[in-house]
Amino acid sequence: MQSNKDWLERSRRAVWHPCTQMKRHETLPIVPIERGDGAWLIDFEGKRYFDGVSSWWVNLFGHANPRINAAITDQLGKLEHVILAGFTQRPVVELSEQLAELTGLGHAFYGSDGASATEIALKMSFHYWRNQGREAKCEFVSLDNSYHGETLGALSVTDVPLFRDTYAPLLRSSHRVTSPDWRLAEAGESPEAYALRAAQAVETLFQARANQIAAIIVEPLCQGAAGMAMYHPAYLARLRQLCDEYEVHLIADEIAMGFGRTGTMFACEQAAIKPDFICLSKGITGGYLPLSCVLTRDEIYAAFYHDDVTRGFLHSHSYTGNALACRAALEVLSLFRDDAVLQSNLRKGLDVADLFEQIQAHPRVRHARHLGMIWAFDVADAESGFSGRWFEAALAQGLLVRPVNNTVYIMPPYIASVAELRQVFNTLLMLLDSGLK
Ligand SMILES: *Cc1c(COP(=O)(O)O)cnc(C)c1O
Repeated sequence: MQSNKDWLERSRRAVWHPCTQMKRHETLPIVPIERGDGAWLIDFEGKRYFDGVSSWWVNLFGHANPRINAAITDQLGKLEHVILAGFTQRPVVELSEQLAELTGLGHAFYGSDGASATEIALKMSFHYWRNQGREAKCEFVSLDNSYHGETLGALSVTDVPLFRDTYAPLLRSSHRVTSPDWRLAEAGESPEAYALRAAQAVETLFQARANQIAAIIVEPLCQGAAGMAMYHPAYLARLRQLCDEYEVHLIADEIAMGFGRTGTMFACEQAAIKPDFICLSKGITGGYLPLSCVLTRDEIYAAFYHDDVTRGFLHSHSYTGNALACRAALEVLSLFRDDAVLQSNLRKGLDVADLFEQIQAHPRVRHARHLGMIWAFDVADAESGFSGRWFEAALAQGLLVRPVNNTVYIMPPYIASVAELRQVFNTLLMLLDSGLK
């Protein structure tokens, strides 16, 4: 039998792992996974880990899901991929129609990763204004602590110093506005009042520079990489008003929050707003295959539709609209319909609420927060290196969590049962009681 050790050593030599100082793996082991089963990952020695981060926020319906497996296998026998310039295929058409129905936007433009969706939305917004004769509108706005991906354009609107600072000389400057994160509210100030106060910074900026600003990009309701920083939907409603008033595009980056993560199919629904562009990825294929997509309004599409080639959107990626990925996404959407997933997630939230209240009441816990299928809290006495220590300690208990600084969060696949979620929360309570900092 092959052991974990063989694979972690080979991986350490052959693979440059993402988001990692590789030297850390001299002491911190890489976890080799042989297979997946529902919400669980299984290593080469048979140890099981509950996937508490949905494999970096992408997995919705578990690993080795029989229905998604069958759909991809069926597609594999027909067509794996065809160039999408000048050609089309059944899965990409059906998926585009269904996404239009769900978002109220249309003209689905495909990329492969989330970061490429960000790039597409930024370029489309700028190009729209240029096609309108307003090429001065070439600046972008994002929130403090925003995360929109790590290619150079996406990193320009990302505000995570650890990812950004090294590459700062390569980036376009962009505007940063106050985050509506309710943890920043003053004592006695409600999350809604704070959200509206934060929106004033946007108005001030738009008053000064709307003629130069093409778009503002936001992660609706929850800034994931900031450490699940949640905020009141009133912020989005106010942003929509300001964007209309000052003629600035609103880009909703629903790459992490879309597909039911916040309790509604898309987070923007909770503010009853429609963005000008929506970016989708991650959960779109249930965590199976890389696929991203940007949808927009008819009027924006129309501004590109012209006899002049250069007024068209001449952007492309080789794997754009990949048939296998689109077919996986179609199966994801049919799972949502057939299994009434949003309702069932809501019930699961209620069925674990008593345990989450125990976490909330724990003396070491601050700012416990829950939105849809995300649970998060901050540990008050966390010390430097907290994240790595909790990762290791949880792993030993068969739970995969990756705290962001002192924020511990759980973002499970939707197929997780109430019993499994209760087990996860009990493990977190145990770790809190252990005093591990
Ligand atoms: C993950 C993420 C991205 C980037 O997606 P990749 O597939 O990692 O390039 C962009 N925006 C948000 C909100 C994300 O969470």
